[in-house]
Amino acid sequence: MNDLIVIGGGFAGVTTARESALRGRSVLLLEARDRLGGRTWRADWNGSPVEYGGAWVHWHQPHTFSEITRAGLDVVVGDSASVAGWYVGEERRSGSVEQRDAIVRRGWDRFVDGVREALPVPHDPLRAIDKLARFDRLTIAERLDELKLSDEEGAVLTAELESLAHAPLQDAGAVSVLRWHALSGYSLELTQFTGGRVTIVGGTAALLDGVASGAPFERWLNAPVAAVTRRGDRVEVATRDGAELSARAAVVAVPLNALGAIEFTPPLSEDKQRAIALGQASRGIKIFIRARGEPTAHNSIRPGHPFGYLDTDWVNGDGSQQLIGFGADAARCDPDDLTAVQRELEAILPGYEVLDATSHDWLTDELSRGTWAIHRPGWYEHHHAAMQPAEGRVRLAGSDIADGWAGFIDGAIESGLRAGAWAAALA
Ligand SMILES: Cc1cc2nc3c(=O)[nH]c(=O)nc-3n(C[C@H](O)[C@H](O)[C@H](O)COP(=O)(O)OP(=O)(O)OC[C@H]3O[C@@H](n4cnc5c(N)ncnc54)[C@H](O)[C@@H]3O)c2cc1C
Repeated sequence: MNDLIVIGGGFAGVTTARESALRGRSVLLLEARDRLGGRTWRADWNGSPVEYGGAWVHWHQPHTFSEITRAGLDVVVGDSASVAGWYVGEERRSGSVEQRDAIVRRGWDRFVDGVREALPVPHDPLRAIDKLARFDRLTIAERLDELKLSDEEGAVLTAELESLAHAPLQDAGAVSVLRWHALSGYSLELTQFTGGRVTIVGGTAALLDGVASGAPFERWLNAPVAAVTRRGDRVEVATRDGAELSARAAVVAVPLNALGAIEFTPPLSEDKQRAIALGQASRGIKIFIRARGEPTAHNSIRPGHPFGYLDTDWVNGDGSQQLIGFGADAARCDPDDLTAVQRELEAILPGYEVLDATSHDWLTDELSRGTWAIHRPGWYEHHHAAMQPAEGRVRLAGSDIADGWAGFIDGAIESGLRAGAWAAALA
């Protein structure tokens, strides 16, 4: 019998396993997919690596950066676009990124007004919950309605928020973005920077390898877990294909929106069940487009567009370029329908010819059912605390329930550090 079974091999599960193994515990990690990494996935597309899931990191993300140092990895800081585009109704305007940011800032400053008091210690989101509750009750759409913005301010802020929230603004809780701002030193500039400028040399796969090789633990791929049963001083785990395993403790590090597929006996607390039923709201797309046209690095935004935040990743020698787009609803864009992608590209960045496109649909993927955690209204007031305590020898982990950078690789590592230490102390 192992000391610990970890269910889920994303950054949270792998960090949990490493931490526990480092303390001398025997660990078995069960992962449903044929690979580790979960919502980070670096794979080849047209001969170049792309990150279908999480990609960007920042030195303001303490757990991630500590692991980058530990693994001896380096980072690359991407260039800013040379032309910014934005839409007000049907009219396309363009200028420098700085000019557009000046417009964004006018709305942003009002959007985040009060967040310093509501999140005075961003890695402890409940520290001032009495003040945070006012924001926690609002969707982003409701928060926007409280602000008096001009048409242009409203259009650019809405487009920015749709890309950050990766969800329809009437579903996403306002705190999901306010938190990001607080964690980024209460700065718009850093919020944009933490979300999209710094990548790891070798990608997320290199970082994951660094964590996973930090201590020996056994791992099974293609091992989806169906049930977790607490029995006295051990935990029994059944996989969907009938394997029955037991350990002194179990950490369940699967996405919030995938937790409902695992049967817990006895059932998890009612508070946890309510949080799982609520889930998180992200349902967006991250699409890669290869296009031919002017060899200029663009950043274009348009509210309500299927990929309304579109950035040049790089420009090739032949003038073609790779673009990365983010949109609030993956169901609104099929990357395989190049005619539709061309039509939509024309509506945000006119004059470019689509050569190819790709994306992973994290929304219909039953092992994620969403992208980065974007909590719904009421999460912090009613649900966040309930997800933290262990129930007997079973504990949940994952970026979606992290204290700090929930919804980021950093939150996954933070949560894994806590869960691994908990399990090692218990076993
Ligand atoms: C499109 C996209 C872009 C993103 N961009 C960024 C970014 O730029 N920077 C950043 O920091 N973060 C980003 N994120 C978020 C980040 O990738 C995640 O928050 C983080 O990787 C989640 O880690 P995790 O271990 O908590 O969950 P996951 O990575 O989802 O790992 C959970 C694992 O559990 C497995 N699993 C599920 N059910 C079962 C089961 N029944 N049995 C066994 N295994 C199961 C899954 O297959 C998965 O491997 C992005 C995410 C997406 C999707």
